[in-house]
Amino acid sequence: MTAPRFRRILLKLSGEVLMGPKDNGGNLAIDPDVTTRVAQEIADVRAQGYQLCIVVGGGNIFRGLSAAAKGIERATADYMGMLATVMNALAVQNALEQIGVDTRVQSAIPMQSVCEPFIRRRAERHLEKGRVVIFAAGVGSPFFTTDSGAALRAAEMKCDALFKGTSVDGVYDADPKQVPSAKRYETVSYDTVLSNNLKVMDASAIALCRDNNIPIVVFNIREHGNFAAVLAGQGVSTIVQAQEQN
Ligand code: UDP
Repeated sequence: MTAPRFRRILLKLSGEVLMGPKDNGGNLAIDPDVTTRVAQEIADVRAQGYQLCIVVGGGNIFRGLSAAAKGIERATADYMGMLATVMNALAVQNALEQIGVDTRVQSAIPMQSVCEPFIRRRAERHLEKGRVVIFAAGVGSPFFTTDSGAALRAAEMKCDALFKGTSVDGVYDADPKQVPSAKRYETVSYDTVLSNNLKVMDASAIALCRDNNIPIVVFNIREHGNFAAVLAGQGVSTIVQAQEQN
């Protein structure tokens, strides 16, 4: 398979990717060592000349749905979740700047003293100048997730692909923890993901990517060198796209 040539990509980082290992005593929501390692993977890819947008989640700190289940009003809980993504965005910004990568954070909820508001044309200029733009607060509205934020920003910023960096190496036809014979897809169609309810991203994010023909590449960002390898068409991943090629 020839390596796809992407110029501008959007990386979606789930909040859990920034967490420390459970056996690390404190089980930190944002572990500086882990965050630095993730930043290094991003810096390596940036150094290869890719234009990079990042959308960060907040699930390591606060998830609206779980809080709503415990009695907080859903919209309020979701706003709290969006604020959690801003904390993660600042952590990723800090880790990247400490290793010499220029960044800007833009939030869908304006927060003047903390970061820039989301302004598409301004984000465009940052990318042209080689800065990594980190988008926080998802789409800025409750009842959405940062997956939808990632799909929306990928479409708005005309990204060639959405890379979903997680702690698993792709999309399986069943839960590999429960079904040992579960098979990882090399490629899978948007429609299969939606109709089989495969756990990739939420349905509105998948549909937005499908409608805008943005491939979704699911890969393990915790594995050293894998992000760059996947971009070069060599690492382990699953690509969600219009047609399956199995
Ligand atoms: N959230 C929201 N609207 C958005 C993005 C996020 O309401 O556009 C809230 C929602 O409560 C969600 C939380 O922020 O649970 C954290 O985001 P998410 O669960 O997507 O984080 P991830 O799972 O990627 O770490």
